[in-house]
Amino acid sequence: MLEHEDVIAVHKVFEVKSSVCGRAANATSKKETLGECMGCAEVVPRDGKAIVCMQSHAICQSCSGTYINNILENPEYNLPPKCPICSLELNVKVSPHVAPSARPDLTHLQTIERCLNPSQLERFENLMLVYVFATTLTTEDEKLFRCPFCPYFEIRAMSDGAMFMRCQAVNCMKASCTTCKLEVPQLDANYQHRRQSARKLGEIEKHYACAQMSVQKHKVERALEMGLNVPCPSCGISGMKDDNCTHMRCLNCNEFWCYFCGKREQDLNKSSTSHGIWAHNVGWPNRLGERCPMYLSQLHETHDWPTDEDACLAMYHRIRTASFLKQVMDELGSEACEQLDEQFSIFKASGFSFQEIQELSSNRLSSILTHGSKVE
Ligand SMILES: [Zn+2]
Ligand SMILES: [Zn+2]
Ligand SMILES: [Zn+2]
Ligand SMILES: [Zn+2]
Ligand SMILES: [Zn+2]
Ligand SMILES: [Zn+2]
Repeated sequence: MLEHEDVIAVHKVFEVKSSVCGRAANATSKKETLGECMGCAEVVPRDGKAIVCMQSHAICQSCSGTYINNILENPEYNLPPKCPICSLELNVKVSPHVAPSARPDLTHLQTIERCLNPSQLERFENLMLVYVFATTLTTEDEKLFRCPFCPYFEIRAMSDGAMFMRCQAVNCMKASCTTCKLEVPQLDANYQHRRQSARKLGEIEKHYACAQMSVQKHKVERALEMGLNVPCPSCGISGMKDDNCTHMRCLNCNEFWCYFCGKREQDLNKSSTSHGIWAHNVGWPNRLGERCPMYLSQLHETHDWPTDEDACLAMYHRIRTASFLKQVMDELGSEACEQLDEQFSIFKASGFSFQEIQELSSNRLSSILTHGSKVE
């Protein structure tokens, strides 16, 4: 078992790499470069137009093109922009989440806008405004409908229950299913080509089932999202940890917390034989549920986890995600879940078979790793 001195020593070894255990973040900010690009592994200069998250994950200018195009082409799934490594939201000038006065000072940080060319910037700003609109300006009985193919949007009453939307932007005019976001064919105004119309009607009818399952689909999506993101217990801003220890410092509100059990430092069960957040790690193998390991790879011996921190982090999120999916499956019933998968391939695309969801969610760490959260 690790004693206090050992814990400090282990900590020191990892400190150079650590992003959450203090000092390292300051140390890197003084450096000339931002480290390696997550795409091509080239060194990223600090003064260049790189995309950087608050945990200093960087994407160099030449690699950022693909990332930016993906955001602009699929805003439905990619806004607000997030770090592809840790899922922390990237700095943007317009954001609905935090009041301007409470926002961290962005002047010294790179905002994503800096990396865009003029036409990308125009499109990005349009999309962000729509996003801010959607999250802040719509009332409870209103919903924002966004064209999946261009920046066009409209706000409608929820009670409309609109299955389809037809884009009104002159250079788009596409019709889409508001649930699966796929394009749907449009009928000729005067039904001239009857055979063609019959085929189109058939295609449109397939989307009636989308509308009927839209609430359930949202639940599954929510479970997947909750599995990947672990919110700060104080401010609720989600982030995904990288391969360091389970001690977290929230980059938004500065709270110290435990990634394993999800509790704030003041609520952690601690040994009197040690200090600070480290006291929460003393004697964890015999007191799991109260105390937590400082490194996920320490579970290798007691719980048959991998030896590699990255693989352990993946394991953590697999158990967490499967447990949330199980909650949804229990609520909706397995027949409804199979129908959902048939219509949207939502389980298939998630990388979990129903069998795996059963197995992983009955892992003995499942109840710890979900932090008592329920999929709403
Ligand atoms: Zn690169
Ligand atoms: Zn990151
Ligand atoms: Zn459109
Ligand atoms: Zn559909
Ligand atoms: Zn926080
Ligand atoms: Zn803990």
